[in-house]
Amino acid sequence: MIVVMKSEATKEQIDHVVALVREMGLNDHVIVGTDLTVVAVIGDDRKKDKGALEQVPGVDRVVPILHPYKIAAREMKKERTLVKLSDSCVFGSKHVPVIAGPCSVENEEQIMASARGVKAAGCQGLRGGAFKPRTNPYSFQGLGEEGLKLLAAARAETGLAIVTEVLTPTEVDLVSSYADCLQIGARNCQNFKLLEAVGKQPKPVLFKRGLSTTIDEYLQAAEYILAEGNPNVILCERGIRTFEDHTRNTLSLSAVPELHERTHLPIVVDPSHGTGYARLVADMSRAAVASGADGLMIEMHPDPEHAMTDGGQSITPAALKELMPSLVRVAQAIDRTMN
Ligand code: PEP
Ligand code: MN
Repeated sequence: MIVVMKSEATKEQIDHVVALVREMGLNDHVIVGTDLTVVAVIGDDRKKDKGALEQVPGVDRVVPILHPYKIAAREMKKERTLVKLSDSCVFGSKHVPVIAGPCSVENEEQIMASARGVKAAGCQGLRGGAFKPRTNPYSFQGLGEEGLKLLAAARAETGLAIVTEVLTPTEVDLVSSYADCLQIGARNCQNFKLLEAVGKQPKPVLFKRGLSTTIDEYLQAAEYILAEGNPNVILCERGIRTFEDHTRNTLSLSAVPELHERTHLPIVVDPSHGTGYARLVADMSRAAVASGADGLMIEMHPDPEHAMTDGGQSITPAALKELMPSLVRVAQAIDRTMN
């Protein structure tokens, strides 16, 4: 960090800042300019509280230089991280996989019909929540382990990689024993104990951006998973909460190139939660691929009118199949592949 002193700061005040920096176990380099003096702090200062220095007499402001996240930062690793869910479902390469499926696993017939539709459309992953984070406690909460068993059966028939959400640290081992990838939902983006728990298990993690987390906060949260030793983190832009109410959330597609600049982790876009309306999903899927997304996660239900959750934003198997060829063409235009 750089400590910028006020123009009227005294020599004693500058010396005091230097002493505090040394007390922190860091080195200093004092640059005396014509108008003001700055103290460049040398060394990894990320564990130090910049706020403490900010209130020291004579200090104008403290400017951080290092990203607050280390393992996630692009500057630490130039090559992109590849996250493999199965042989055909790898995120972060030229190929752009699609995970599709219902919001929730409802019953055997529904999840098998979904899996067949996802496979027929040429997608690589099947999503479906067995544990659901519902805004209302009286809403359908998911089938629990029974839902995980149905997902495993769908994988056995289709070969699709299974992505499903985990809500609590105590259920991580159970979900991990069935899934190919654990989803952390938007509401748990800053549930740090849960992030640590999925960081300790071996399966990849699809980590959704919180409803109101900034990019900076999001990457610091991802760091919790990485710091526990799990390098296989897929970020997911799923829309954020803004004043705009014509959609359920505002899908922040500029987050995709921004995240690519800041991190080596792959980034998937979820146009379903990102818009909340099935009629907007195809266009935003194409836009997501054009923005450089490393994958898509789309809600698809064999019978959206009767879906138990998120029917309004779920497209049909036929609509998914119809969407895929145009995604292939968009991908080609930016030198990527979709099937
Ligand atoms: C979901 O994927 O069904 C879900 C609950 O998503 P989010 O956490 O993004 O709201
Ligand atoms: Mn959903």
